[in-house]
Amino acid sequence: MNLIPLPYAIDALEPVISAKTLSFHHGKHLQAYVDNLNKLLPGSGLEDLPLEEIVAKSSGALFNNAGQVLNHNMYFEQFRPASSIMPGPTGHLKTQIEAQWGTVEAFQTEFVAKGVSLFGSGWVWLSAAEDGTLVITQEPGACNPVQKGLKPILTFDVWEHAYYLDWQNRRGDHLKALWRILDWAIINNRHSTYSRFS
Ligand code: MN
Repeated sequence: MNLIPLPYAIDALEPVISAKTLSFHHGKHLQAYVDNLNKLLPGSGLEDLPLEEIVAKSSGALFNNAGQVLNHNMYFEQFRPASSIMPGPTGHLKTQIEAQWGTVEAFQTEFVAKGVSLFGSGWVWLSAAEDGTLVITQEPGACNPVQKGLKPILTFDVWEHAYYLDWQNRRGDHLKALWRILDWAIINNRHSTYSRFS
């Protein structure tokens, strides 16, 4: 397992996420999870499985590190530099969000509220269920919706290391700002790659 490269420059997400936060979050926190996973995986019997299956089938320290690698890979890969042209969800994903929440804005408000109300460290996720409905879940620690049989497509990290250097205790303001750098094309693509939805 290798550390994923960031698909943008280290300062590209400022001022939402500073270069300093990104350098620690990606270069130190995620690197440590990758290193720990690489120490724990050999001999576990899970070493040949895709990361999603390792997370779904492991426990203890192996789970914590595998979960955090999967969570952070999906997190870092879903952003792009803010610009005047930031399209929202499209196609089936947009239709499904509007069917369940009325508007994309109403979905975003609930998503941020679930991130704010998550106690302690964890992640707020948007996932697709087997029947095609979308679900927002709060996942503590290293947990991931794959453990519940869901298909995760979007996540905000609410561990304090994700925002404290830039936003201190203002978790809600940080989460609201993340929409400015969210690349919906990637979220659309994750959603459409599940064959039942394409
Ligand atoms: Mn993190």
